[in-house]
Amino acid sequence: MKSVDAHLADVLHDVRALSSLDLQLLDAHGCILAEDVVAPWDLPQFDNSSMDGYAVLAADLAGASEQAPVALPVLGDIPAGRPAAIAVQPGTAMRVMTGAPMPAGADAVVPVEWTDGGVATVQVTRAPEPGGFVRRTGDDVRAGQTVLATGARLGPAQVGLLAAVGRDRVVVRPKPRLVVLSTGSELVEPGLPLGPGQISESNSYMLAAAAREAGAVAYRVGIVPDDPRRLLDAIEDQLIRADLVVTTGGVSAGAFDVVKEVLGRLGTVAFDRVAMQPGMPQGFGTVGPDGTPIFTLPGNPVSAFVSFEVFVRPVVRRMLGVEPLHRPTVRALLLEGLRSPEGKRQFARGWLSVENGRYVVRPAGAQGSHLVNDLAHANCLVVVPEEVTEVPAGGTVTVMVLERRLS
Ligand code: AMP
Ligand code: MG
Repeated sequence: MKSVDAHLADVLHDVRALSSLDLQLLDAHGCILAEDVVAPWDLPQFDNSSMDGYAVLAADLAGASEQAPVALPVLGDIPAGRPAAIAVQPGTAMRVMTGAPMPAGADAVVPVEWTDGGVATVQVTRAPEPGGFVRRTGDDVRAGQTVLATGARLGPAQVGLLAAVGRDRVVVRPKPRLVVLSTGSELVEPGLPLGPGQISESNSYMLAAAAREAGAVAYRVGIVPDDPRRLLDAIEDQLIRADLVVTTGGVSAGAFDVVKEVLGRLGTVAFDRVAMQPGMPQGFGTVGPDGTPIFTLPGNPVSAFVSFEVFVRPVVRRMLGVEPLHRPTVRALLLEGLRSPEGKRQFARGWLSVENGRYVVRPAGAQGSHLVNDLAHANCLVVVPEEVTEVPAGGTVTVMVLERRLS
């Protein structure tokens, strides 16, 4: 049997980050930046008012109060987007809107709430500080500053920042396009009635969701029956849009294990028995004219999930060009004893939490690779090394953290 580490090294061996692309800004959402973005101008670009109010000289209003309001003539209005043509003279004011450029001569804004809102003359009942309610040029970003560096992930706020510095396109590493394909003649689309011996197809939904969380664009292909011709056609159809193909099912030792049969003849896909539980039957190789990588994962849902976490997710991350490739691990106190098969690395589902300031983990009771309910109520995988066959309650284990939700 092949070790987990050897298989991981094999699947990562030829994978490189995808070549960068110049994308329209919104299409770059969720991608990794592949250039340093330098601000061509200051943000804000000009001194402007942070409030609707009146541009004034603060010194004119020293001592203004409810009891002793100060009256100033209002020289005119400054809407956002229209700089004033005249300056504010001592002893005068101009009405100014939020975001409007500060007029020359003024050094503060009185919010309209501190005034009677007058149009020709304004009564001010409270004095602003010099500089009060003025957003200064460059207090956010300086021209020439690198606002986002290569490797930054473009979430909503980062997309907003790029637009604010005037970018409508940006060079990014694209998200890998991952095609998920489920094989099995027993499978039925969820929502459709089940006949005898049939089951609702779940792997492709689970893996498409996992692929999205890993940063890929996931395409879920419908069910492919255990028929060599149909499988070949389905794979060939998908190659056009795939950076990575993931199949599930059909790789064990059954009589109708069609994935193994078809891809075994097709070229570079190697089928291995990997020393792990769950997830022993693994296939990996390339298909098609572009040498598209393909994973053939086992069909049992928990095996497929664990295989995705251990082997596929790191490949997606490598294609994205991001580190770290692997899930974070922590050491935790095991609350219930665990048995593990000799010579295999076990990935047991569990619930990680913090008690009295330390990590503790409770394994899910049974560890069958068909137990999707336990999987859905786990937040981590307890990793039991190959040579260990039993960890007693109170022992310390390594835990792969799948979710930050730890309560
Ligand atoms: P296989 O690897 O094709 O022998 O499948 C192993 C087990 O996983 C069988 O019980 C299948 O019915 C089940 N299985 C295979 N593919 C799926 C799927 N896409 N969704 C849910 N269960 C599946
Ligand atoms: Mg099958």
